[in-house]
Amino acid sequence: MAGSGAPQVGVLALQGDFREHAAVLRGLGADVVHVRRPEELALIDGLVIPGGESSVMDKLSRTFGLADPLKDAIASGLPVYGTCAGLIMLADRILEGITGQQTLGGLDVEVRRNAFGSQLDSFETDIDIPVLGAEPVHAVFIRAPIVDSVGPNATALAALEDGRVVAVEQGNLLGTSFHPEVTGDIRFHAYFLEKVRTRAR
Ligand code: GLN
Repeated sequence: MAGSGAPQVGVLALQGDFREHAAVLRGLGADVVHVRRPEELALIDGLVIPGGESSVMDKLSRTFGLADPLKDAIASGLPVYGTCAGLIMLADRILEGITGQQTLGGLDVEVRRNAFGSQLDSFETDIDIPVLGAEPVHAVFIRAPIVDSVGPNATALAALEDGRVVAVEQGNLLGTSFHPEVTGDIRFHAYFLEKVRTRAR
């Protein structure tokens, strides 16, 4: 926070739609740090892992020596919000990953990559998310994962009409299958920033 009162929020900028997240976070009053190197983790009060391609993010984070420091930061309570590929990165268990694909973990869930198949590659729908208030969230899914199972340490925040879970929370970690950063609905980012502000205090 550096005395300015504005939280310093990192956006993992290896790959994916990190610019969209940065714009939403700035709009909410955060100072944004693009994170590409381990040293940058020392500057931040929270981190967003964007949508993109989780297998590429996984490889790049290991190549750049970020994966282990990120795991340590998550274990020590850094607030982290992952959307889509970012949710996959935060999941403890992954189905349909590419050969050798790893995750950072932290969320006690099993996610299924590309769960909607080619027919329903991308779609939009309104979802009730009680923690964000009565107004439904317009959710955009792009080659999205689904949360196949939620372990005892994590909590489902939202599900599709058929019951499949698409948003989860566990302490300072938050993950959504969909992309609030592209819709103009800032409530998920605001909810996340509350975690960041509470921890940074
Ligand atoms: N299918 C992508 C993956 O496996 C996720 C897509 C997205 O982030 N929009 O990482």
